[in-house]
Amino acid sequence: MVRAMNDHALPIAVIGAGPAGLFAAERLTEAGHRVRVHERMPSVARKLLMAGRGGLNLTHSEELEPFLARYGEARPWLEGAIRAFPPQALRDWAEGLGQETFTGSSGRVFPRAMKASPLLRAWLARLAGLGVEIRTRERFLGWDGDALRFETPAGERRDEAAAAILALGGASWPRLGSDAAWVPTLGLPMEPFKPANMGFTCAWTPFFRENFAGQPLKRIALRFGDQQRRGEAMITAEGIEGGAIYALAAPLREAILAKGEVILIIDLRPDLSLEALAERLAAPRRGQSLSSFLKRAASLPPVAIALLREAGAPPEAAVALAGLIKEFPLRLTGLAPIERAISSAGGVRREGLDEHLMLKERPGTFLAGEMLDWEAPTGGYLLQACFATAALAAEGASRWVTRRQL
Ligand SMILES: Cc1cc2nc3c(=O)[nH]c(=O)nc-3n(C[C@H](O)[C@H](O)[C@H](O)COP(=O)(O)OP(=O)(O)OC[C@H]3O[C@@H](n4cnc5c(N)ncnc54)[C@H](O)[C@@H]3O)c2cc1C
Repeated sequence: MVRAMNDHALPIAVIGAGPAGLFAAERLTEAGHRVRVHERMPSVARKLLMAGRGGLNLTHSEELEPFLARYGEARPWLEGAIRAFPPQALRDWAEGLGQETFTGSSGRVFPRAMKASPLLRAWLARLAGLGVEIRTRERFLGWDGDALRFETPAGERRDEAAAAILALGGASWPRLGSDAAWVPTLGLPMEPFKPANMGFTCAWTPFFRENFAGQPLKRIALRFGDQQRRGEAMITAEGIEGGAIYALAAPLREAILAKGEVILIIDLRPDLSLEALAERLAAPRRGQSLSSFLKRAASLPPVAIALLREAGAPPEAAVALAGLIKEFPLRLTGLAPIERAISSAGGVRREGLDEHLMLKERPGTFLAGEMLDWEAPTGGYLLQACFATAALAAEGASRWVTRRQL
């Protein structure tokens, strides 16, 4: 229910105009508060627009139980927020902005437009209609007593606010705005940021790098420890990335950080059993080169055949060759940089916040979005958690301000 705005009250400051900040601003104005948004970049929601390049996977259609399990250790923390603002609520919200959604074959939910710009345009028009003031090129620097300090084109400024919601984002793709420059200056209780949903480096030979970077490995299966994922991966100049890799990125990252290098097992023909493949490879070669033979007998694309050669000369015997195709050991030498990761792990720790995501050390300051210490795979889980935590923080800030005005 929208209440009349109290124009005489100090505004609530929302800092960071990504999806979490903008959604918090929307919820607060709907609850009758005056809201001012501060964004360090010249324009808002750049990462959301970038996410739109991949179709804007808003959320996922699976049942809430498996959905919540995607947040791993952070589930107990996020569960209440996601139950209060579940995937269907996010779909309804997008549809309320004129963005019809659909469920893809993988269960992922996208806007029909498959991009973020029409949604963002409609959203900003709604926020303007609600009276949200958005100030760009204003970087939050920290506090001076209770005042908020901003670096602006006109110099440093101090603002009073009734409450503040920080939604400063994580540490991936810093050129889109969330550069995590606040980590050393704000003194918040942090779990260090690490890349999440990122690629890995591999020691490709110059031949492989020059000829196969940019090529996909389609319909493969990956195995690491007891975890398996089917999907696609992409060869890059430095290593490997893509959906199936991101799905295993968290355990792979932790193993690499602990041991330096890990072996990822790739099944290049997951739809054929070892025996069926060995039988095909036992056929006479009739003078064909190994590449032509593998292409014909195992239906492997050139990139997969070249990958097999990266481990040295492939074995001649059919069973051993089939074994290599079914269990190719790819050595991952390191993590691709956080600058190119889809998201980040780490962030402000749960222990520093109350149940409405208010900083215990700074009452009246609430946090939302990717700056909090949680991680999730791709599939719409990232945006869902950003919106849900924004709704929770906005509810907390609204209650806090209202209580103080009574
Ligand atoms: C290539 C790519 C594709 C993605 N695709 C998807 C997808 O399909 N589905 C999905 O769920 N997720 C996706 N994500 C992740 C998703 O975009 C992020 O999780 C989400 O944008 C985080 O929202 P946020 O509001 O917490 O932070 P952000 O979107 O990062 O916004 C934070 C804002 O705060 C501003 N800011 C930072 N510091 C300050 C400061 N000191 N003062 C003022 N302002 C500041 C930043 O400029 C930024 O605008 C993708 C990410 C990338 C990089």
